[in-house]
Amino acid sequence: MLMQQQRQQIVDYGLKMVRSGLTTGSGGNLSILSPADQLIAISPSGIDYHEITAADVVVVDRSGQTVEGERKASSELGFHLALYAAREEITAVVHTHSVYATTIACMHWEIPAVHYLVAFSGDKVPLAPYATFGSEQLAENIITTIGAYNAVLLANHGLVAVGKDMENGFNVAEEIELVARIYYQTKSLGQPVLVDAEEMQRVADKFGSYGQQD
Ligand code: 13P
Ligand code: ZN
Repeated sequence: MLMQQQRQQIVDYGLKMVRSGLTTGSGGNLSILSPADQLIAISPSGIDYHEITAADVVVVDRSGQTVEGERKASSELGFHLALYAAREEITAVVHTHSVYATTIACMHWEIPAVHYLVAFSGDKVPLAPYATFGSEQLAENIITTIGAYNAVLLANHGLVAVGKDMENGFNVAEEIELVARIYYQTKSLGQPVLVDAEEMQRVADKFGSYGQQD
């Protein structure tokens, strides 16, 4: 089986996405790029994460042609491919319908630096304009909005996070959901006090040496 390890990771992280409350049913999707063979493993369309097996995960080339797998690839294959084309350093894309990020996206707001953890995305989480799910327009909106950020809100839809690997991409999605929840709560109380640009730069620099660095 091609990309067996990555296909299993899609299964595992799909379950993790549901168990962490970042999505429900078959909502959202995940992919991993293997730079060595230039193939992408992506979740199948419309199958509950509890049901997906490694064989259901679809392997496509960089143009989206199926190389191995019987299932139909995620309807969002287009934006996954576009993100790998636009951002050379990433090998994972995570799309969720996490409730707080989606709530902010339904207001057509960005998420500002309300908490330093927004640095998982950058100095904010930008908002891509609405387009129908699975459309070329949605892929275009995401690419023109995400720039160098690691997360983008999709108006009236959800969140997309990218990472250097699946663990990192998942962490971005999870931490941005926390920041979205905090933002929602602060907006319910009044006007949050934001972290200023200089401090966000300091945090971004510190993120480079945070953790075990192994
Ligand atoms: P898929 O099941 O086709 O991946 O679609 C889910 C989704 O979130 C569409 O935006
Ligand atoms: Zn979606």
